[in-house]
Amino acid sequence: MSEKKILEYDVLVVGGGISGGEAALNLANLNYKVLVVEKDLSLGGKMIALSKVFPTLDCAACITTPKVSEISRHPNITIMFSAEAKKIDKLGDHNFEAHVHQKPRFVNIDDCTACQLCEQACPVSVIDEYQQGLVGRKAAFIPFSIASPRAAAIDIINCTLCGACERVCPTGCIDFTQTDKDYTVKAKAVVLATGFNLFDPVKIPRYGYGKYKNVITSMQMERQLAPTRPFNAILRPGDGKMPDNIAYVLCTGSRDKSVGNPICSQVCCMYSIKQGQLLMGSLPMADVTIYYLHIRAFGKGFNEFYEQARDMGVEFIKGKIGDIKEKENGNLILRYEDVEEGKVKEAEHDMVVLSVGVMSNSEISDSFQGESLRLDDYGFINQDDILASPAETNIDGVFVAGTATGPMDIPDSILSAGAASAETTSYLRRASL
Ligand code: SF4
Ligand code: SF4
Repeated sequence: MSEKKILEYDVLVVGGGISGGEAALNLANLNYKVLVVEKDLSLGGKMIALSKVFPTLDCAACITTPKVSEISRHPNITIMFSAEAKKIDKLGDHNFEAHVHQKPRFVNIDDCTACQLCEQACPVSVIDEYQQGLVGRKAAFIPFSIASPRAAAIDIINCTLCGACERVCPTGCIDFTQTDKDYTVKAKAVVLATGFNLFDPVKIPRYGYGKYKNVITSMQMERQLAPTRPFNAILRPGDGKMPDNIAYVLCTGSRDKSVGNPICSQVCCMYSIKQGQLLMGSLPMADVTIYYLHIRAFGKGFNEFYEQARDMGVEFIKGKIGDIKEKENGNLILRYEDVEEGKVKEAEHDMVVLSVGVMSNSEISDSFQGESLRLDDYGFINQDDILASPAETNIDGVFVAGTATGPMDIPDSILSAGAASAETTSYLRRASL
C-alpha cells in the first residue's frame, strides 16, 4: 500500500551532499521553506566519507558534521531520506510539481537512540558500502558513525526477518510494517545538487581491479586514512600486511576516450598527493610513487602542496601504465612507459591505488517531464550561461549546484552552491513582485 501526500515548499533541493546542503542552508536562512530529497540514509554525500581535504589537510568530517547538523536542525528545512524525485513537471512560472518516492527504513528515526543493540543481535553480515567494501556490516545497521541522522536502518534485501533486532531494541522503534511512500511536492523553484559518480575501474581490466586484491581505489584508501576508518592501520586487503611500497595510478578513467571519459577529473592529482602525504605520516618507512601524465595543481596553494609532497619523499614518475600483473606473493608488477626517458619499464609495488575519475550522474534528467533538462557533452547538467549565471539550466527556475555541473573540488562546490542559492533567491523574488 502506498500513501500519497501533497506537500508545499518554496524550493525543492535534490541531493543532500555538501552542495545541496549548502544551497538549502542559504535559502533556509533567508526564510524560504526548503525540502531536501536525499537518496541515501544520511546527509553529507561523498564528502562525509573523506579523510582530510587538500591543500590545508583539515579534517573533512570536522567541516562536514557541524554543517550537516545545522542543516538537519534548521526549522525551515525538511529532509527526506531514501527518497528520489521521480518526476518533475514545470506547470508554469514558479510552479513546479514533483513526485517523490521514498523507500522505508524500517526504523522510526525519532525513537532510535543509536544504541546499536540491533546490530549486535543481527546474524546477517553484508559488505559495508560506506567503508568501500573493506569490511562488513550487519543487515540492521547504523550507516556510519558520523551519519546524520545517527539512526539504524534495516537492509531489507539481505534481512532474513528473523526478528532478533526487534526483540532487543529497547525503544521498539523497528517497524517492519513500513511501506513505500509517494508524495506530490509543490515548489516554486528547484535546485539540482545530484553530485557525481566515481569511475568504475573494472572498466579497465588491464589494471586488475576486482581481480587482484591489492589493487584498490583511491576511495578505499581514503577510508583507510580516515579517522573513522575500518582498521586502525593501513593494510593491504589481500593478506592484511602493512604495505611498504605503494603506487598511485593517476587519471584512472579520466582523460581517456577509450573508456568514454575524455575530461580531466580536476581532483585526482591533488587527492592523490594528499593521500601520499598522509601515507608518509602513517607509514614513515613506506615508499610512495605517483605515476602521472601531468600534475594539474592549479588552485590556491596547490603547487606548494605538490612541492611539499616531493620534499616529504613522495616519488613522481611521468609514466603511462600499460598493465598490472600480480605475483604469487600478492605484489604487483606495473609495466609503464617512462615518458621522460622514452623507455618501457617495470616496477614492483606491494599495493596499487587507482586514482579514479569523476563521471556524471545524470539520472535526474529522466525525471523532467515536458521541457527536457539539457546535459552537456559529458552528461553533466548544462549551465546555460556559464559566465553570467553559472547556476542557470535551460529550464527557467531550475538551478544546478556543485559537481552536478562537472568535476570540481570542495571549495568550488560550496561556491557553486552559493551561486545556486543566490540565483534561486532572485528567481523567487520575481515571484513576489
Ligand atoms: S530481522 Fe533482519 S535485520 Fe533484524 S536481526 Fe534478523 S536479519 Fe538482522
Ligand atoms: S533500532 Fe533500536 S536497537 Fe537499533 S540502534 Fe535504534 S534503538 Fe538501538
